[in-house]
Amino acid sequence: MNHEIAVSKAKEIADRILAPAARQSDKDARFSSEAVAALGSTGLLGIMLSTDLGGSALGPRTFAAVIAALAEADASAAMVYLMHLCGTATIAGAPSSAAVVQTLKDIAAGRHLTTLAFSEAGSRSHFWAPVSRAKRNGDSVRLSAKKSWVTSAGQAQSYVVSALAPDGSGPTDSTLYLFPSATPGLSVAGPWDGLGMRANASAPMILEDCEVESGLQLTDDGAGFRAMLEIVLPLFNLGTSSVALGLCRAAVAGTATHLNSARFEHLGQTLGESLPTLRAQLATMQIDTDGLAARIDDLIDHLERPRETTMLRVLESKAAAGDIAIAVTSAAMRVCGGAAFSKHLAIERLFRDAHAGAVMAPTGDVLREFIGKAVLGIPLF
Ligand SMILES: Cc1cc2nc3c(=O)[nH]c(=O)nc-3n(C[C@H](O)[C@H](O)[C@H](O)COP(=O)(O)OP(=O)(O)OC[C@H]3O[C@@H](n4cnc5c(N)ncnc54)[C@H](O)[C@@H]3O)c2cc1C
Repeated sequence: MNHEIAVSKAKEIADRILAPAARQSDKDARFSSEAVAALGSTGLLGIMLSTDLGGSALGPRTFAAVIAALAEADASAAMVYLMHLCGTATIAGAPSSAAVVQTLKDIAAGRHLTTLAFSEAGSRSHFWAPVSRAKRNGDSVRLSAKKSWVTSAGQAQSYVVSALAPDGSGPTDSTLYLFPSATPGLSVAGPWDGLGMRANASAPMILEDCEVESGLQLTDDGAGFRAMLEIVLPLFNLGTSSVALGLCRAAVAGTATHLNSARFEHLGQTLGESLPTLRAQLATMQIDTDGLAARIDDLIDHLERPRETTMLRVLESKAAAGDIAIAVTSAAMRVCGGAAFSKHLAIERLFRDAHAGAVMAPTGDVLREFIGKAVLGIPLF
């Protein structure tokens, strides 16, 4: 599979499976297993894995384009896919135990969805500082933890879980483990009823004295923090920015359709023909959307050819994308007026979904804190 084929497969899934069901999935907070099955059967679940594992060895450019295409139809499904690819990259960065290799082969074969379970009730959005601690007893490692939000909770085949290392001394001395969904003691701890991203099953989960299976410790003790920063953060921030881009594109398209179809019959004109103010607001939405696309291209270039400014771009991209998605979808709500407010259009779903980006860790506020410190040369942690 190459870049073009991957993107066209994503668009096909978006048009055939996601778009027709998005409204009802949002209403019912229904996870799209059909979309995950289609992502698996088309090879998109293993898109970044090496070819010897059965993957397509594609990079951040394809990752971003596929996610944006999915998000344009259904941001919840795009988030599920994004968390899966972040989890997969983390597993692929682990020592190649038999269990790790088998998991990666299952992912490439489209049989396995994974996700990240980092956030904890105790440290909230500060995912880099889990409060749960793994315990070692002889050869076995066990973990009890309260994970506050896990996208694809109860739907994934495995969970990439963070915890303080058994002998770690500082708040970021964490380790990452992979827990298969059938692990005794692992359970979904409540329902998911969010304002937005309602169809991605982001429920809390509990681990009660769960034993880490042989070969499924993904990092050395204390090296979880480094994997979070070096593997997960760049992909996650690029991916959430791409979800934001998909939402903005959908908002522009939905607004344009409304302005071209809704009419002032007494004036004999469409809204778009009649009101310059609506055209001007639509223009601003388009400018912001294309600006976000350019920012994402720049981040991809920085990830493909890493340099001194790469981490700054990683941080900036998600902070900016969160704000842009909220601004563009808010403008769409205003421009489409009562039709949007009364849920006659998909715009209000986009508006609700857009608010998740800034809330997901690292939140927009935390990113600004990091960026400000980085510019001033102050250590981030
Ligand atoms: C749809 C959705 C899906 C999610 N999926 C996952 C998942 O799959 N896995 C996972 O691990 N987590 C997931 N999360 C959790 C997410 O990453 C955050 O941990 C969570 O949203 C934080 O919410 P909180 O209320 O606990 O934040 P709090 O930490 O209580 O933050 C409250 C406010 O304080 C601000 N704030 C916090 N710290 C600082 C700081 N240092 N400087 C400035 N401002 C600060 C925040 O920006 C926020 O405005 C998901 C969240 C959402 C909304």
